[in-house]
Formats: sequence, C-alpha cells, structure tokens
Amino acid sequence: MKVHNFSAGPSILPDFTVEKTAEAIHNFAGTGLSVMEVSHRSKEFVAVMDEAQSLFKELLNIPEGYSVLFLGGGASTQFCMIPYNLLGKKAAYLNTGAWANKAQKEAKLFGEVVEVASSKDAIYNYIPKGYEIPADADYFHITTNNTIYGTEIKEDMDIDVPLVADMSSDIFSRPVDVSKYVLIYGGAQKNLAPAGVTFVIVKDEFLGKMEREIPTMLDYRTHIKGGSMFNTPPVVPVFAALQTLKWIKAQGGVAAMQKMNDEKAAVLYNEIDRNPMFKGTVVNKEDRSIMNICFVMTEEYKELEKDFLDFAVSKGMSGIKGHRSVGGFRASTYNALPKSSVQALVDCMKEFESIHVK
Ligand SMILES: *Cc1c(COP(=O)(O)O)cnc(C)c1O
Repeated sequence: MKVHNFSAGPSILPDFTVEKTAEAIHNFAGTGLSVMEVSHRSKEFVAVMDEAQSLFKELLNIPEGYSVLFLGGGASTQFCMIPYNLLGKKAAYLNTGAWANKAQKEAKLFGEVVEVASSKDAIYNYIPKGYEIPADADYFHITTNNTIYGTEIKEDMDIDVPLVADMSSDIFSRPVDVSKYVLIYGGAQKNLAPAGVTFVIVKDEFLGKMEREIPTMLDYRTHIKGGSMFNTPPVVPVFAALQTLKWIKAQGGVAAMQKMNDEKAAVLYNEIDRNPMFKGTVVNKEDRSIMNICFVMTEEYKELEKDFLDFAVSKGMSGIKGHRSVGGFRASTYNALPKSSVQALVDCMKEFESIHVK
C-alpha cells in the first residue's frame, strides 16, 4: 500500500533528496567515503556548503548584505539567540501559537517584551489584526506559519520596526521579499531537510549593536565570519538541504512551489468545507495555512473521530492526527507532498461520508 506522509515534522522530503542522500551515505562525491565520515573541511564538503548557501540566496532572491547560515540547535535555540543579538531594551512579539509564545518567553530574559496581540483566547485559530507595534521596539517578531494551529501570515508585512520571522514550516513555500526582514530563521525539518540543521538569513549591518557580551557560539557574527564552519556543522542535513534546494529549482523555484501548494490546499479545504462530517478549525479563510491544514469532525459526527482516524490509517494516510492541543486532524501539505496524496485523503473523506451519511 502507498503511504501518504502528512507528518507535521520531521516530514516528507522530495524522493530526489532521499535518493541523493542515500547515495552519498555510501559514496560521497566519488570519494569512496560516506558523507557521514568525511571532514567538513574537505574540499568536497566545502563545495556542498558553498552551493547550499548560494542556491538558498538564489531561490529566495536574497539581496546583497544578508548572510545565510546553517547552524545547530533547532529553531528553539534561535528563540534566545535572536534577543541575545538584537534586543537592547524592548522587543515586540505577536503571539499566534505555541512556538510564538515560546519565542517571546525566551526574549523576556533579555529585556522588555511587548505582546502586541494574541489569539490564545481562541486556541490560536486566527491571526490577530489591527494591533499597534511600539515604534521604539528593537524588532517585531512574528511566526509566519503556525504549524500546530494551521494559521499563516502569507504576506510580507510593511512596517517601520525591523521585522524578524520564524519561517520553520513555510520557508520555500512561497516567494518572500527578504528585504522586508532583518532576520528569518527556522528548523529545516519541516520543508527542507532532515532534523539537525537550522537556517538563518540575517542582515549583516543589523548586528553588533548590543552592549552585552555574547557567548561565541550564540553570536551570529561568529558564524558569518566562519561561513557556518566555526564549529562542525550538521554535515548530513546540510547535504540533504542542498538536494532539496536543487529539487525546488528544478520544479521552477518558489513561485512554482506556491502554485502547487495553493492548488493542494484548495482541494483539501474545499472538501473540508463541503463534507458534512468535517469542519476546518480556522474559520477566517485568509488566515488558513497552505502548509498545515487542521480540521475536526462536526458536532453531529464527533463520536466518529477515532473511527475516521483508523479508517484513514487503513487507507495509507500517515501522520494526520491533530496536535493534542487542538485535537481532530492535521494534514501537513509541505512542498514535497504530491497532489496525488491530497487527492487520496479527499477520496478517503468522501468514502467515509458515503458509509456514514444517509
Ligand atoms: C517545529 C517548529 C519550531 C521548533 O523547531 P525545533 O527545530 O524543533 O527547535 C519552531 N517554530 C515553528 C514555527 C515550528 O514549526
């Protein structure tokens, strides 16, 4: 049976990435050695790192003056690294989910944090609007895609305060105007690579303004100077990330990704809205994520939730159980998920309907 991978993270990667990485696990760049057992200073791996950084910049059309870093520690380490490097007195945060909340909690260790708005009152099922950002904030932090709750900020904001974004779960899903941000970061395991590497895009001139001492490993300037090789980088995940970047380019780049993602999301949301057994948890259509699609059973069919999950699993749907804080179901429709998998889930929902709805 074909297994359809809707896992929220770590998650589906292109077959190309898996195959090329599997080959390099056995024989990396003709060295006769595994990519797991070569020096990160070898010319073969240095070439991988260089190409990964330059392709990353090319695909997102990153302007001059920004660095791309591949670090360890996950997006969660960035929650403290960002304020360490950027928060002098005050920072503003938009609380749109569990990750956003964790990010702002860490920032409080470094200065004043203003929560400009929060959707916590409604289990984060919408993106707050119409809030004010203090003009004297050092930066404004947002989470563009809320992986757990299925909401997404799909447009780059025009604001006067320097913008910082966690794009862990929507990087490369759409074109981004990087010039509107001073820093973009994320764990790679949602849309780019296996777990273990964290990407950071940072505007160089924005660094070096803090009075505090910053530990060497937590100072972005260390990693810019070292070309992400100050210490041993996560070699295998960086290799895999390069393969995914090549795959994205071959598909037509981020604009092609967005088109495909929009199509996939429309197919699934249409079924959720049509099928009397299901309803979306995010009611505002403009707030709905195209990466993580959350839905529950309608009141009338609530007791069939476990039955549907078992039914879907029996049809090869993997990873669709919703996060425990939301319940129901979550289908993650990252770049590498083919349209046929979304169609298979829709067919499964229709079949379940035909059995239960008289
Ligand atoms: C998964 C996720 C994180 C956490 O990433 P780690 O790499 O596990 O630290 C942070 N932010 C968002 C939006 C995520 O989806």
